[in-house]
Amino acid sequence: MSKSGFVAISGQPNVGKSTILNGFLKEKLAIISPKPETTRDNIRGILTEGEEQIIFVDTPGIHKPHDLLGKLMLSRAESSLLEADIILFITEKKQAFNKDDENIRNRLPDPSEGKKVIFVINKVDKVRPKELVLPLIEKAKDFYPFNDIIPISALNPKDIERLLKAVKSYLPKGPLFYPEDQLTDKDDYFLVQEIIREKVLTETYKEIPHSVAVVVDEVKEEGTKNTLKIYATIYVERDSQKSILVGKGGEMMKKIGEKARLDIEKMLSRKVYLNLWAKVYKKWKKDPNALRELGYSG
Ligand code: GDP
Ligand code: MG
Repeated sequence: MSKSGFVAISGQPNVGKSTILNGFLKEKLAIISPKPETTRDNIRGILTEGEEQIIFVDTPGIHKPHDLLGKLMLSRAESSLLEADIILFITEKKQAFNKDDENIRNRLPDPSEGKKVIFVINKVDKVRPKELVLPLIEKAKDFYPFNDIIPISALNPKDIERLLKAVKSYLPKGPLFYPEDQLTDKDDYFLVQEIIREKVLTETYKEIPHSVAVVVDEVKEEGTKNTLKIYATIYVERDSQKSILVGKGGEMMKKIGEKARLDIEKMLSRKVYLNLWAKVYKKWKKDPNALRELGYSG
């Protein structure tokens, strides 16, 4: 059985988030290089090793919003924390436990939710004498019930490897969401599916698990209006999820459809007509045939 999960990388500016991410990905990097307008631009990289797949999600800075953009960034950051299976909370001695760290801490999931949160104390190569890391570890224990507290230097590949091992140990069972090979070429079908999937997740919040599957069934040119007609199906596992997805009088589906359509139009630079269906496919996550049918490899 494969394992997969979303890993949010959060922390104040300059604590080493990008350095750590690059360390994880190395040349194995299979980044979705989305056109800047595409919605999943908070996916930073995907690491697939054998039967394990980690999807790294960037968390934009968490500050008090001063304007609309700030609000948007904050809600992005919050939703990536909500979606994540594992959260890496990165800090360093100089900035640890300050107001900004408190802000992030306050947005961490309730410990009862069972999400894994790893506190990473980075840049320990700069701490002298080394023992000064110990009080930070002690303090972290009172800060939040972290699953792990891991001091590292992101410049040291052995430390990166150790951190990756810890992340992998918390990966839940799940399908390989992204086919390794499809990522590098910007497959439009795939990106359309991703856009729709993202709208389902952001609009329904936690009520529908992120293992929801989207399949583009048909794409047709409508000659007269120069419109591209896209027919897609959103699969969920339970009737209750389908009712949430459809919403009162179809409101939710309508909203998801409209938001997805706007993004798809931007991506393809053309008019799109989007037709969405919701279907229940019981236990698809556990059925290898269903997984293949729904475009998941493995
Ligand atoms: P981000 O803003 O959180 O993405 O931080 P960056 O990854 O861009 O790192 C900020 C700066 O810290 C860069 O100059 C990195 O080279 C440096 N840096 C990152 N990790 C370490 C570390 O473990 N030790 C040292 N000495 N410098 C680091
Ligand atoms: Mg960065």
